[in-house]
Amino acid sequence: MTIDCTVKKTDPGRFEMFAGGGLAAVVIFSVGVFMSVVPVIGWIVGPGLMITAGLIAIGHVVGIFRAKPSYTGHCPNCGAPAAAGDPGSVGMCEACHSGFAHHDNQLWKLEA
Ligand SMILES: [Zn+2]
Repeated sequence: MTIDCTVKKTDPGRFEMFAGGGLAAVVIFSVGVFMSVVPVIGWIVGPGLMITAGLIAIGHVVGIFRAKPSYTGHCPNCGAPAAAGDPGSVGMCEACHSGFAHHDNQLWKLEA
């Protein structure tokens, strides 16, 4: 059996992430606005929820910029699916604990 060591790039799906996190922030913010019309308790909880929504939105935008495409391939030693780092880096197979290098869109056995 030949092992296909070609590396595939996995897209983190930025648009879906943005839509999901943005929606959560909007919902929490709306609840905060509604709470603000309730005397005393709402005046305390409402702004808190709005601040929380703001933090979620900020954290989410930061997360989008931090999200990097990741690479997956098959271990050149045992053929198990393996996660690889950026091109030029080396990784370790979770299944057989042997090292591999990621370059030229493939995973290569490390010369021991
Ligand atoms: Zn392996």
